[in-house]
Amino acid sequence: MKGIFPLKGVIKHYDWGGFSLIPEMLLQENQAHKPYAEYWMGTHPLGMGQVKTSGSNWSPAEDICGPLPYLLKVLDVRDMLSIQVHPGREEAEAAFARENEAGIPLDAPNRNYKDPNHKPEMMVALSEFWLLHGFKPEKELTDTLEKIPELNRFLPVFLQGGYKALYQQVMEMPSTEVHEILAPLLERIQPDYAAGRLDKSDPSYWAAKAALHFNKTGVTDRGIFSVYFFNLVHLQPGQGIFQGAGVPHAYLEGANVELMANSDNVLRGGLTSKHIDVQELLRHVSCAATRPAVISPLPDEKGEYQYPVPVPDFRISLFRLNDGARIAFKADGPEILLCTKGKMYLTDGVSRILLEPGFPAALVTEGVQLSAEAGNGGDEKQPRGVESLLFRASGGIHKR
Ligand SMILES: [Zn+2]
Repeated sequence: MKGIFPLKGVIKHYDWGGFSLIPEMLLQENQAHKPYAEYWMGTHPLGMGQVKTSGSNWSPAEDICGPLPYLLKVLDVRDMLSIQVHPGREEAEAAFARENEAGIPLDAPNRNYKDPNHKPEMMVALSEFWLLHGFKPEKELTDTLEKIPELNRFLPVFLQGGYKALYQQVMEMPSTEVHEILAPLLERIQPDYAAGRLDKSDPSYWAAKAALHFNKTGVTDRGIFSVYFFNLVHLQPGQGIFQGAGVPHAYLEGANVELMANSDNVLRGGLTSKHIDVQELLRHVSCAATRPAVISPLPDEKGEYQYPVPVPDFRISLFRLNDGARIAFKADGPEILLCTKGKMYLTDGVSRILLEPGFPAALVTEGVQLSAEAGNGGDEKQPRGVESLLFRASGGIHKR
């Protein structure tokens, strides 16, 4: 089948999720006050999208477009996610095979590799967004280790052994020692956090928040060290950042749209109650100074904001259109379109569908010539001058 099809994604109720953003996008009541963490749009086996093929018939998206090389998500981060790193493709292939040979079941808690794929990610902020991303540059990390008295002891380790020695030390040290070092720091900052005296641009804000969520009596999460070692990044709506293989990162707060390779390979480094395989993590973390490359795109001649990625697996872009504004483009592979704000009429000349709260997404098959119009489509009751946002996700290298 060819054409454009309304697409229904899959909701993930992870406990770090927010309560209103995704329900509002889907026009769902959330009287039970459940966390709505992620909305998956794609063909992942753990979250197969459904497309409306005719009348009231819905079919698996895969039946229309085959397996997609990418997975599009909306994330609403209320509580921070674990610190994580994703492997490269060759590493993932080898390690996936190794775990298969060792007979570790796919759903075992100590299983690191769920598939043989890498998982590069590009995220675009929908709200103000906070995250940790890569190790701070040398001067900044040195300043942090000097400024925080409880972390002074790590200064010689870093100056002599660099990032790897520093990270290895905190990840391998016995948990009693982690607790001995971090407990006084947390005792010092917790009153400021509780009294609202810490700013979100201060890592201590996030360290104190993490401690409340992840620490148990006498046990302190070693991920709190990383809150001080990594870059704390603050994105404005519309800004993006790419997470490639090896870059440690953690989402702290905010909503985003995220496009990634179709994979679930995550190695964790703290701020979690899940399995941590320190040796495997150390093998993959890029222990190097990182300057976060925040992307603030300008529109191209078609009004499309491109978020370039250095991998061939996917492409993501955004249209920001005022009421009545039109665009036209050809789907150069199976594409997913997602309207996160306002309304968007789509037509391929045969059928016409409306993306709006309730049904914000559509699947477009390869080669379909599409036109889209923002706004109310002539509905006079709808206020004018509203901006609509349309995300465009596609796979593979192609020209636009
Ligand atoms: Zn990630």
